[in-house]
Amino acid sequence: MLKHPVICLLALLFLSCTDAPQSPDPENTEVYLCDSPAAYSYHFNPNCKGLQQCKHNIYKTSLKTAKKHGRSFCGWEANDTIAR
Ligand SMILES: [Zn+2]
Repeated sequence: MLKHPVICLLALLFLSCTDAPQSPDPENTEVYLCDSPAAYSYHFNPNCKGLQQCKHNIYKTSLKTAKKHGRSFCGWEANDTIAR
């Protein structure tokens, strides 16, 4: 019956893509960084208190890149997560 297994596979891939609108891929999550030489953390929340202290540019990048640059998760947001 399956004359075109490749097409079936593609259809399956397409369907699985549309079924999962936001497959969690932490490495590609967008994070916010302060473009300061003294900055050492990354932020998920663009309105974070830690980011508001930034006197430099704030830029957006992937979590993967942030970690590669040695950034660690923001203390403000870490505390927030624990409090919840
Ligand atoms: Zn933060």
